[in-house]
Amino acid sequence: MKNIYLLGATGSIGSQTIEIIENHPEQFNLKAISGHSNLEKVIEIASRFPLDLIAVKDEIDALTIKNVFPNVKIVYGEDGLIELAKVNPDDKESFLVNALVGMVGLKPTLAAVEIDRNVLLANKETLVVGGHLIKKALKDHPVQILPIDSEHNAIWQILNGEDKDKIHKLIITASGGPFRDYTRKQLELVDLKQALNHPNWSMGKKITIDSATMMNKGFEIIEAAYLYDIDIDKIEALIHRESIIHSLVEFVDGSVIAQMANPDMRLPISYALFYPGRVASPVKPLCLSSIGKLSFEKVDSEKFPLLGLAIDAYKQGGSKRTVLNAANEAAVKLFLNEKIKFLDIEKIITSEVENHVLIPEPTLDEIYKIDKSVKEKIFTEYDK
Ligand code: NAD
Ligand code: MG
Repeated sequence: MKNIYLLGATGSIGSQTIEIIENHPEQFNLKAISGHSNLEKVIEIASRFPLDLIAVKDEIDALTIKNVFPNVKIVYGEDGLIELAKVNPDDKESFLVNALVGMVGLKPTLAAVEIDRNVLLANKETLVVGGHLIKKALKDHPVQILPIDSEHNAIWQILNGEDKDKIHKLIITASGGPFRDYTRKQLELVDLKQALNHPNWSMGKKITIDSATMMNKGFEIIEAAYLYDIDIDKIEALIHRESIIHSLVEFVDGSVIAQMANPDMRLPISYALFYPGRVASPVKPLCLSSIGKLSFEKVDSEKFPLLGLAIDAYKQGGSKRTVLNAANEAAVKLFLNEKIKFLDIEKIITSEVENHVLIPEPTLDEIYKIDKSVKEKIFTEYDK
């Protein structure tokens, strides 16, 4: 029996995690959840599970929910997310599932590692911004970060039992998003509805926009560099429209191993929850003969410059990644609120990253300061 502490329970990954937990009541106990803007959904989930703790957005929501669940510990704000990550510190047979969106997930991830709790990580921004801090914390704590992101989960499945020194290359597949066949000229005119219309995956809004700009693939390359401790030049992105192959590993002997499945996040979540076992899952079986063909193309880095910018930010190191992520979070929010155009996203992020004076190994405090000032600057300029 494993206890699950779930951050971001009301989101896309959070909901799918709950579905799996609910299908296996003999294996998992949901002990704590967080939800930010959808209090109704928090109440609905909390009515189905006997929870120890609920984390909500602010004090007002905390009071509302305390009235409904007087015997459950209620916490709020960013500190509440940290409390959730480390509640019941002696409970070692447990997982923190981090399904938050944005760098707000960094401190809770660190908090879980610090109490020796394994983390199932969907929140890739944690590694983009604080990969160096997580790596350092993992040296002192006997825990693992188990990736839920489908590409990294695929690589994990492929590497099972393989010698990491024998990797020649990691190949991370990308659907290419809704604009893979658009020209730069056409990208000038795309609107929010088109950008949210992902061809293969149904996900939260922020990652859907990150997929349309290809920033998501840049983040995933950084994520893979940290998770697998591998030179970033050995990681490449490959357009694969069908989203059937979730990533590939090329070994030194020339063998290339791929992991395949229909695109469904319940598979990587399930693999991480049940590792090292496997269980039957609701994922539709793959029928290759009806798919017929799988296609592969190079990424057009001129059309999608944010992929290269992300790799560059990683190579420059430290606080460039903080700025990359902060500017992205702010610009995507502005685009979702229809305050800027699609191509303004890359313009804003590029300008912030280029103008930032690098701090090589930023501390947690420095990261939060930089994040705040970059976001404030962008909102002041564009949120009118
Ligand atoms: P989502 O928007 O559907 O859900 C995000 C969750 O975080 C919600 O529960 C929301 O209440 C909470 N949240 C948002 N802002 C918050 C804040 N400031 N403070 C506290 N809580 C906050 O997002 P998602 O699509 O489930 O993605 C979650 C993470 O998983 C992201 O990092 C994303 O990149 C990654 N991911 C998602 C998918 C997918 O299929 N959805 C696939 C791979 C990776
Ligand atoms: Mg992914």
